[in-house]
Amino acid sequence: MSRGSTLIVTFDGLRRDRATTALMPNLARFMAEGTDFLNSRSVFPSETRVAVTSTMTGCPPGDHGLVANQFIHPVKPGALFKTAEWDHLETAAQAGQLVDRLTLGQRMAEAGRSMVVLSTASPGASRMMNARAHALGQPVFSMHGLPVSSQQLHEQVTSTLGAIPEPAAPNSKRMTYATDALLKVIYPRYAPDLCVLWMNDPDITSHRFGVTAAETELAQRACDDNFARILEWWHAGNGPQNIIVMSDHGQITGQRQLATLDIVPAEFGHASIGAFSGIYLHHRSASHKAKVVDWLVQQDFCGLVFASSDDGAAIPGALPWSAVRNAHPRNADVGFTLRASDSSQQYGPDLDKCLFASGIPVGGGMHGGLNKGELSTVLAAQGRDYRGAFASETPCWLPDIAPTILTTMGLALDGTAGRPLVEALTGVSAGAGRVPDVETRLLSATHRGHEQYLRQWVIDGQTIVDCGWTAGSGGWHP
Ligand SMILES: [Zn+2]
Repeated sequence: MSRGSTLIVTFDGLRRDRATTALMPNLARFMAEGTDFLNSRSVFPSETRVAVTSTMTGCPPGDHGLVANQFIHPVKPGALFKTAEWDHLETAAQAGQLVDRLTLGQRMAEAGRSMVVLSTASPGASRMMNARAHALGQPVFSMHGLPVSSQQLHEQVTSTLGAIPEPAAPNSKRMTYATDALLKVIYPRYAPDLCVLWMNDPDITSHRFGVTAAETELAQRACDDNFARILEWWHAGNGPQNIIVMSDHGQITGQRQLATLDIVPAEFGHASIGAFSGIYLHHRSASHKAKVVDWLVQQDFCGLVFASSDDGAAIPGALPWSAVRNAHPRNADVGFTLRASDSSQQYGPDLDKCLFASGIPVGGGMHGGLNKGELSTVLAAQGRDYRGAFASETPCWLPDIAPTILTTMGLALDGTAGRPLVEALTGVSAGAGRVPDVETRLLSATHRGHEQYLRQWVIDGQTIVDCGWTAGSGGWHP
């Protein structure tokens, strides 16, 4: 295999504190034996397609421009742009407004290296794993078939393994099918320099049944059993030089549902309501943003609020978009999270609760906001380029993954915003072994008794959000 060849295995929605020896023994052993990034974080909003795009560009949403799972996009005036939908993404791609930064797929193509995506996730998430894959001739296999999949790989997998199993929760049959495709078709035929395997459990099972439900534990075990098959094959000398394991975000418990999605006055503008909500104002002046923020902080559903004036400064009562690295022309004028429990001191699978908009039953898992249970992810690596038995306390986040892979491959990082995680690297990689300094910062905004806080880390100039929370009249009252 080529220098730095890497397999990325993702367990969607896996909270770091649920990656335990009891629930996922093979993953837990992998984390302990390799480099385990103890303080790894998602991006904000902590939603799958935003997280995928941040991972595959090495940039936060404010740089790559896929600012939320759904938002108002210039290519779909007057309607919600839904990133789960292939057609919506295709329309944006044709307008040159899907992703504003180079993807790992493009970087692999330019370097003459190969990349394959193998995904059990939605068509949209699968697309964002390699947004220009079809144009570049890089194979994709999705459980959703064509046009998400490349025709040739679709035929190779289905002729070898038979029909794709029906989706279910737990989605274990599809996890096994995907693992078979990886081991029996993709590596034997393509030996990709970079391969992405995306398992959409425990996310879908946790959404439906809850973070600590028996069904979710079963989903985790099925993921772990398949991961064990991958490790056995790898330890026998097959496959890439390195394996990176990650989750894209965690989940917290949806404790209470909004009575209606109609929570923002239509006179303000168009609203997209969810775990992360955006308002696209009719009147976009700073004074009008301030009026909307003033109204929002008095609403009992309102968590953290984000709005900036044209020069990037915060609007009174809000935090600036730059604080969450999501200042982008396509982002909402005013954004907010739904109210959630305070995770700044204590958090855990049974403690983290939130108000939610739709899509899950009461007690189901939710994500998108700034609770530590949503932002805290699994990130671990093993292989030729990574330190063994190293528990790294240096904070990191999804945009750091691509620059780290590029560093192990000996390729240029220009255009990535993330930081190569050199503290975890061995051998010839530039800067290998250096542990950077970390500064901690607390941002806050208080307005009409509504208090909001954001704890950040600054590492080599990188700002990463640890978590955000509200207090005072904005506190969580279940
Ligand atoms: Zn996800």
